[in-house]
Amino acid sequence: MSDMKYIENNKSNACSRDIIDTCSNDKIGIINYDIIDVCQEVASECGVECQIMTANALTTYKGGGSACVFTPKSEEEFVKIYSAFIRRGIKAFILGGGSNVILADGLCKVPILCTKQLNGIRVCDDGVYAECGARICDVTAALKECGMGGFEFLSGVPATVGGAVRMNAGAFNAQTADYIKQVRVLSHKCDDNGIWTDFAVETVSRDKLDFGYRQGVNAIILGATIMGREMEYDKSVELSKRYLAIRAAKQPKYPSCGSVFANGELPSGKLIEECGLKGVRVGGAMISEMHGNFIVNAGGGTANDFMSLVKLCEKEVYAKFGIMLRREFVYLK
Ligand SMILES: Cc1cc2nc3c(=O)[nH]c(=O)nc-3n(C[C@H](O)[C@H](O)[C@H](O)COP(=O)(O)OP(=O)(O)OC[C@H]3O[C@@H](n4cnc5c(N)ncnc54)[C@H](O)[C@@H]3O)c2cc1C
Repeated sequence: MSDMKYIENNKSNACSRDIIDTCSNDKIGIINYDIIDVCQEVASECGVECQIMTANALTTYKGGGSACVFTPKSEEEFVKIYSAFIRRGIKAFILGGGSNVILADGLCKVPILCTKQLNGIRVCDDGVYAECGARICDVTAALKECGMGGFEFLSGVPATVGGAVRMNAGAFNAQTADYIKQVRVLSHKCDDNGIWTDFAVETVSRDKLDFGYRQGVNAIILGATIMGREMEYDKSVELSKRYLAIRAAKQPKYPSCGSVFANGELPSGKLIEECGLKGVRVGGAMISEMHGNFIVNAGGGTANDFMSLVKLCEKEVYAKFGIMLRREFVYLK
């Protein structure tokens, strides 16, 4: 292990190896590029395909625009494509299950690397190693087969391992961070313009990672070693069923990106409800009648419809309570 730093926003030394901010859509070097041209160029250089895909296929909200998408089949391919964009001064956006992402209407200006084919899971000491695109429900199933439990609290959450580690997904007083032993990341060194001069795949242990409430590892996550807890198969099944039943009773079935705002001292859903906003619609998007913190796609909802409701909630909650809601989803333009 070298002396590389894994502290979020560690920008003090532009030449030290640094973890990239995967949430920002910034271009880092060049100012203008044609997204289709540049994606075709990278696809041909890397010998891979690039497809134009819609929000319907890419996100759980299922409304919004489209994007140029690469779906690497191996970690090597992922690194090859990601670094080909970096050489052109472009940070590709990494997409897992798309369950916390709203894809803006129109054609996205940022290329997407979708991890869904990087979904291998293998059993290891005390748990499993899962590639970033593995679904959390498959991790739970793999642990269960080995007489272990852990991620039942995320039953019903359509997250991948990368997305859950990035967002520190949590529920029922438990969070992803509690189960992480190590994270495999793509780290890099860059020059003053943000262009990579070197990169490496590395394993970082839990104690070097900074997790907070709904704030996880700000890195390019290739996989994670997840610690299981001893648990009988039937107990794991029962726990999952219990959590799923609670979700079914409280959360809408329409397409959504889960909770729109992080909770503060008071639950955001309650604040929105008290502003009388439940059931309010803009176009095909609606603030759920069941849960104030869910904006659902009730049919034909666009990203603009969604964002109008987000802004309405922010404005009304601020006006009534003086509280600024903190957005939990990622808006990708
Ligand atoms: C019905 C429903 C219920 C939900 N319930 C909960 C809940 O109880 N608790 C909760 O915390 N969340 C919940 N969510 C939100 C969401 O599932 C989580 O935030 C989840 O962690 C996102 O995972 P994902 O794989 O879908 O990530 P995406 O939505 O694809 O991406 C989210 C962010 O993670 C980044 N990312 C994804 N993969 C990687 C990677 N390999 N490396 C680096 N960055 C990466 C993306 O760039 C983006 O910034 C819910 C969502 C839905 C639709």
